[in-house]
Amino acid sequence: MPAEGADIQKELNPLENAQAQFEEAAKLLEIDPGLLEIIKQPRRSTIVSLPIQMDDGSFRVFTGYRVQHSIVRGPAKGGIRYHPQVTLDEVQALAAWMTWKCAVVNIPFGGGKGGITCDPTKMSKGELEKLTRRYAADLSDLFGPDSDVPAPDVNTNEQTMAWFMDTYSMHARRTVPGVITGKPVRLGGSRGRREATGRGIQFVVREAVKFLKMDLKKCRVAVQGFGNVGSIGAELIAQDGAKIVAVADVKGAIHNPAGLDMPALLAHIKKSGSVVGFAGSQPLTTSIIEYDCDILIPAALENQITHENAGNVKAKIVAEGANGPTTHEADRILKERGIFVIPDILANSGGVTVSYFEWVQNNMGFYWTEKEVNERLEQYMVKAFNDVLEVAVESTVEMRVAAFMLAIRRVIEVVKLRGVYA
Ligand code: NAD
Repeated sequence: MPAEGADIQKELNPLENAQAQFEEAAKLLEIDPGLLEIIKQPRRSTIVSLPIQMDDGSFRVFTGYRVQHSIVRGPAKGGIRYHPQVTLDEVQALAAWMTWKCAVVNIPFGGGKGGITCDPTKMSKGELEKLTRRYAADLSDLFGPDSDVPAPDVNTNEQTMAWFMDTYSMHARRTVPGVITGKPVRLGGSRGRREATGRGIQFVVREAVKFLKMDLKKCRVAVQGFGNVGSIGAELIAQDGAKIVAVADVKGAIHNPAGLDMPALLAHIKKSGSVVGFAGSQPLTTSIIEYDCDILIPAALENQITHENAGNVKAKIVAEGANGPTTHEADRILKERGIFVIPDILANSGGVTVSYFEWVQNNMGFYWTEKEVNERLEQYMVKAFNDVLEVAVESTVEMRVAAFMLAIRRVIEVVKLRGVYA
């Protein structure tokens, strides 16, 4: 039944979606409802006002968030997002997804997420540095290699991580590289981290294609969002022989049913900052979500596949690069239509996996080659895909429900062993 008014608000609220996904999986597991309640609620949500002086001399106050959803399996882990639409609900949803993601890929972290409501496209580099340092300093009691380890997310990058690490270290009076991941390699970042999320998508897409007995070399791929995750994922999947036929970024979309020349497209983006205007393509005026393709990779933001367009998705596989790109309502429609969804908490877990490798390397003070990082990443991703697939087949549920079932079981096991301190 189509959603209307308040229902649409509900459908597009990421926290409602995250909780509905949790509930759907939880009801299939025989777990004490009290224990489920413990792992469902975010452990701690912090909101701060961040005043900074802008370049023109005026003062502005931004709102910052850090949510630690769970620290049961290890330190809270999750990125920091800079975006005008960041809200507490969104950060809480993203933090919860991190808990389930770390459990699915089986790394010793809980879940966290941070964000600042701001428009980085309208701020200078100096203003962004001040805002990042103020955020890191104000919340420094929360962070630490053993307590809460942030990373990049939308509109934050290696430079943001470097400012954060420096600020935290200045307060700690020593250099603490393990407080944050996604740092530049020269500051203790891991080789292969920048490509890790896209590479992880490549690995799970390979596994899905194998399971569905498709031929990757005959697959046409559409990618929404051409930043870190989308562009690298597309580049690697193209190297596996698939054809990238349509791509979109915030400025527009392009397509070429015969296949886009990836190296030439990446060179065009480097020069112009967007996919728009690429010589080997035509502008795409219809929705990329509904594009005629075999594999759709939503790699931009939440809520891109909704009840309104899920019925028109043509892909056989949806590999969720972004967090929360499919609403709970849309999921139901994709399931009815037999579309194989590789859920975000599995598909994009390559980033947090190499963040874990970075943290391990920082703690050891011993650094791996890119080949070692990529090989270990492949082992983790292939294992996670097959662990989820096993639950999906055993319980005859789709991959998202299976991923949540697996994650909830793994978190609950630890809660039971640790007990509830009171
Ligand atoms: P990014 O800022 O590098 O890229 C985002 C891309 O999306 C850009 O190309 C932007 O132009 C595009 N975009 C934004 N709004 C759009 C719209 N309405 N339509 C089409 N394109 C749009 O961010 P990223 O790091 O690639 O992250 C993308 C998604 O992947 C986010 O949901 C993020 O949470 C998730 N994710 C990122 C990582 C990581 O390691 N970077 C890991 C896991 C999940």
